[in-house]
Amino acid sequence: MAHVSVPSYWNALPQKYRLVAGKCKECGYVNFPPQILCNNCSKSNTQELIELPEVGTIYSYTIIGRGAAPPEFKKMQSKSGAYAIAVVELENDQKTKINVQLTDCDPFKIKIGTKVTAVFRIIYEQEGVRRYGLKFRPELKNPK
Ligand SMILES: [Zn+2]
Repeated sequence: MAHVSVPSYWNALPQKYRLVAGKCKECGYVNFPPQILCNNCSKSNTQELIELPEVGTIYSYTIIGRGAAPPEFKKMQSKSGAYAIAVVELENDQKTKINVQLTDCDPFKIKIGTKVTAVFRIIYEQEGVRRYGLKFRPELKNPK
């Protein structure tokens, strides 16, 4: 296989829509997103790309109220009101934690420990261009 640098691999279209991490061949640590240097042992170029599970639980979260969003999220927020961002603990061996935006729910109903699943959604819209990526949908009995 030809050498592909981590950033260009990461920016390749299909990879943006999956949870691709770099597992260090030296120490086994899972870096998300993949890094040049391992966050655990600091060795360089030791990571092989792996796909993380698209399910996990909410470890912590913050609700972004109306008016507090950065400009590129304003239009979406005006439609949906407050939304939540969360640290999600994935269901892999190391319980890798990632920062995500939650979707398809009333943010005031989520709790620490709520199960979440990755879904493909518009992340934001800027100057008419829609950016897609993964958000996480909490599994709630009455989500709205
Ligand atoms: Zn390492």
